[in-house]
Amino acid sequence: MKPGVVFGEDYAALVEACKNGGYALPAVNVVGTNSLNAVMEAAGKNKSDVIIQFSNSGAQFYAGKGMEDGFRAKVLGAVAAAKHTQLLAEHYGICVVLHTDHANRSLVPWVDALVEESRQNIKREGVPLYSSHMLDLSEEPISDNLETCARVLKDMTPLGMSLEIELGVTGGEEDGVGADVGDDFENPSLYTQPEDVLQAYDLLTPLGHFSVAASFGNVHGVYKPGNVKLRPEILRASQEMVMRERSTANNPLHFVFHGGSGSEKAKIEEAVGYGVFKMNIDTDTQFAFSEAVGGYVAENSDAFKWQVHPETGTPFKKQYDPRVWLRKAEQSVVTRLDEAFVDLGSRGKSIAQA
Ligand SMILES: [Zn+2]
Repeated sequence: MKPGVVFGEDYAALVEACKNGGYALPAVNVVGTNSLNAVMEAAGKNKSDVIIQFSNSGAQFYAGKGMEDGFRAKVLGAVAAAKHTQLLAEHYGICVVLHTDHANRSLVPWVDALVEESRQNIKREGVPLYSSHMLDLSEEPISDNLETCARVLKDMTPLGMSLEIELGVTGGEEDGVGADVGDDFENPSLYTQPEDVLQAYDLLTPLGHFSVAASFGNVHGVYKPGNVKLRPEILRASQEMVMRERSTANNPLHFVFHGGSGSEKAKIEEAVGYGVFKMNIDTDTQFAFSEAVGGYVAENSDAFKWQVHPETGTPFKKQYDPRVWLRKAEQSVVTRLDEAFVDLGSRGKSIAQA
């Protein structure tokens, strides 16, 4: 496959390559060109394909927090980020999936606006802007959730785009979307039910390509060790139900693992074996970025107080140049992602060929 952002059948082929190859791709939340370029750099370095994603507020940040119309900024930021990535991705020599993260009911208009932007982009450039979008209506009754997912997927399929849906509630919070599970890990309603997955499969399969963010004890954010009890067998139960009831091949569903930061490696591997092709990473790369900046500021604190030292007269321009400490942040993100590509088994598996 040609390096660059993938859509439609190429995207579907990449998902199949992951599942058949027994690996998953990190899906990294980014907020600007520094984190975005660092993800492409890490993917190129590791010869892995990668998923780059924006939350609604990440997209708004990309456009600029000072833009008065916040909704417009969420749309324009996502458009600008997609154009930036489409221009540069091929030069990193890997395939990139462009995706938007959690959108609850209040953010359905954001996704609709982005789908319309893709429709316009196809007229101009021949390709949509995003490979896929996510709708997270998991807090609603399943009929409402799936009805809206079906409507949006019908809009996206002719444009060559895929939809990620959420069934069952992922614990923790991602940019204000999500639920607080507290200590309620025994509550079965927090785990995705195979019957719900079968219902989604039956409704959405004829309409287009989709993936499922399933709840199997995963939680957004990082918590004390032992507080997160992952149960990948929940994923297997759903795969088996669809295989049995609809006579499909092995692992018919494409699963997405949210809240992957801080997970045990063995549980990640097990989840990948049950059809997980995408694992979201946000918290750990946020920390990697900030940790590097914090370390640099601590070591060069004078350069963050004065342009020239008031007593010694030493100029600090070379230390406070934002490119210096932003580059430290980028390199730190690359180092954290080196680990993610190994954990997910995607290192060296890029299907891109120049
Ligand atoms: Zn999530």
